[in-house]
Amino acid sequence: MDGRKSILIIHTGGTFVMESNEQGQLKPGDYAFDYIDHTINTLFDAKIVQTRLLNIDSSLFRPVHWVKIAEHINDNYDNFDGFVIIHGTDTMAYTASALSFMLKNLDRPVVMTGSQLPLKNRRSDALMNLVDSIEVALYSGLKEVAVLFNHTVFRGNRAKKKDSWDFDAFYSPNYNPLIKLGIGMEKKLHRYLEKKPGVFEIDTRLCEEVIIIPFFPGIDFSTFSIMVRNKKVKGIVIEAYGSGNIPSDNPGLEELFKDAAANSVPIAVCSQSPIGKVNLGLYEVASKAEYYGLISSVDMTTEATLVKLMIALGRYQTIEKVKKFMIGNIAGEKDDRDAGK
Ligand code: ASP
Repeated sequence: MDGRKSILIIHTGGTFVMESNEQGQLKPGDYAFDYIDHTINTLFDAKIVQTRLLNIDSSLFRPVHWVKIAEHINDNYDNFDGFVIIHGTDTMAYTASALSFMLKNLDRPVVMTGSQLPLKNRRSDALMNLVDSIEVALYSGLKEVAVLFNHTVFRGNRAKKKDSWDFDAFYSPNYNPLIKLGIGMEKKLHRYLEKKPGVFEIDTRLCEEVIIIPFFPGIDFSTFSIMVRNKKVKGIVIEAYGSGNIPSDNPGLEELFKDAAANSVPIAVCSQSPIGKVNLGLYEVASKAEYYGLISSVDMTTEATLVKLMIALGRYQTIEKVKKFMIGNIAGEKDDRDAGK
């Protein structure tokens, strides 16, 4: 080691590294590695190393890929001061949520980024996002998993993709950004996650048999009851209306609640309205949700709720422990204090 700080860039793919095939469709390319080697190293007085862990469109991501990234960070943890993950935008919020739970007692930044246009494109946002991410990994003092896009840093498990066209592609509906990059780096230190005592370790256990059911007028829940009774599903996330409104007399819904309870299948409730909190006690029509012990996601994103439930079911055998994990605040994914203006 030469005394300089060191950053590991982990490639996983996405538009960032893509190029056009003969039909003009984007597919992962292999030019980015050399391009970054030549340009980035001259910009920073730091040791910057790249690894290509994956090179796929992030819509192909499965939970096994989250585990692979967590293990790679674990294997390299002691050799780097921070990590930058290049990732497709489509499922970045899911991966960021998963890593935030899997990487325990983080004491350095893990910054995820991507781009709307490939690095090769002359109007690309890729280089800008990468340079910002390395800057943040080197100098922000973050000790958590973050998503960086368009000069803004969000808590990873609070972030959501909101735009497939604009360079301003992400937001975090219920938690204000951690950092803004303008001509300087404006750190909102009071929003940073505090490091928990304990040594860094990973816990990648999870259960994939979790489904999301979006509520819509006319939905019949009977099919999902069959899945529960046939043990095809171990956890359910219901995406309800507004403040967590679940019209309990909806066809098949009470039957689903009963079957889920009988089979120890937890049901978490998040909202189709990304901004705001779920409150299961607000409306009379939703009263059965409370009666059957459904879990409110409070202000967690759908992405974080799904991943957290997968992880809870992977780690715990009893429904009580799964619920305790879901209700708790593990990595700043939900509000239990003023998120700050
Ligand atoms: N389909 C791409 C992906 O998620 C989109 C992107 O990277 O922006 O990999």
